[in-house]
Amino acid sequence: MLIDQLNQAAAERAAGALTRHRRTAHTACAPHQTVSVKDGKTHPLLSFCSNDYLGLASHPTVVAAFAEGAQRYGAGSGAFPLVDDHSLAHHHLESELARWFAPNIPNVQALYFCTGYLANLAVLSTLGTADATLFCDKLVHASLIDGALLARATMKRYPHGDLTALARQLAACHSPLKLIVTDSVFSMDGHMAPLAEMLALAERHDAWIVVDDAHGFGVLGERGRGALEHLGLTSERLIYIGTLGKAAGVAGAFVAAHRTIVEHLANEARPYLHSAAAPPAIVHALLSSLALIDGCEGRERRDHLGQLIGQLRTGLQTLQVWHPQAGWQLADSSTPIQPLIVGDNEAALSLSQALENDGIRVTAIRPPTVPNGTSRLRITLSASHTAADVTRLLASLSAILARRREA
Ligand code: PMP
Repeated sequence: MLIDQLNQAAAERAAGALTRHRRTAHTACAPHQTVSVKDGKTHPLLSFCSNDYLGLASHPTVVAAFAEGAQRYGAGSGAFPLVDDHSLAHHHLESELARWFAPNIPNVQALYFCTGYLANLAVLSTLGTADATLFCDKLVHASLIDGALLARATMKRYPHGDLTALARQLAACHSPLKLIVTDSVFSMDGHMAPLAEMLALAERHDAWIVVDDAHGFGVLGERGRGALEHLGLTSERLIYIGTLGKAAGVAGAFVAAHRTIVEHLANEARPYLHSAAAPPAIVHALLSSLALIDGCEGRERRDHLGQLIGQLRTGLQTLQVWHPQAGWQLADSSTPIQPLIVGDNEAALSLSQALENDGIRVTAIRPPTVPNGTSRLRITLSASHTAADVTRLLASLSAILARRREA
């Protein structure tokens, strides 16, 4: 019986320290939060878990634009984008994003989706026709894997970051359409894919490259336009996906690619055609996020974020977290994602709990989100953290380490 089977699965999860508990946040997305757990009591917590890298989720200008958008366009979108009219807010956002990516992708057009998950499903399931082959890095995001599984294309995985293996797979492939699929910044590790080298491979092997820049858009590049701007990449072969619920602070995602590809997606992609359009108020709020990302404030926020990243890494190196009594490994990352790899599931949970006892929240990320034996604390920084917040996290980790060394 289903309930017995599911109870058995829940018991197995609990035995492997893999159960996930949701906390309820009573306050807006910000480093200092009030949350309640199962006991129903509320606790103040300093959080290092969100992907709100620039601190725009609660920015007064974005919040005001959201309210103004609701006044202007109402609360809901009412229909699917191709059934009812495409809203003016959507039109402005897509035009603005196309303008942003024009230096990187010739003949570019942009298409807005309700979530990054849907955008990834749409791109891979629509372009991955039966005669295509998808080449996916072993660590690509779950939504890209799900998109590849929905596609009728052949899927090949190459070991993480192994360009020699990728080149070998490309050379051996005779499909008329080859799509290389990668995250730009790996979401659980924080480091970047070698996009310039991958693009050179794509050009050599007549392939296309699908880049999911969920964690780079807004953060990387002089003007926050993401990994392509950061690396100065230009090619018609780039199919770029940026998410707007992370650094942009609101919700949704977009695909920027050659206009023929984008028109094809708008006509054929099932996740686009068969899901209600996002409320225009969300999209109106996003226009104000883009203005912030692009302007002085965005630059200041990225600079401040860079300083916090430096402070955290220097502090963790000083703590010698890799020392046998701790045995944690600091990932090689220069982005706001700074994982502390602990290894064992129980050990990761117990470190997360020890921090929580000090009023600090850093989620323990365990399989299947990360490979077995690499459970970790995924510390993420936001421009709305202060240097004092980072100092507090470092002091708490230092005290936990001191207790372990004494034990
Ligand atoms: N791609 C990556 C790399 C992600 O990390 C995520 C979300 N964590 C997504 C896509 C999905 O984006 P969304 O949350 O907008 O669905």
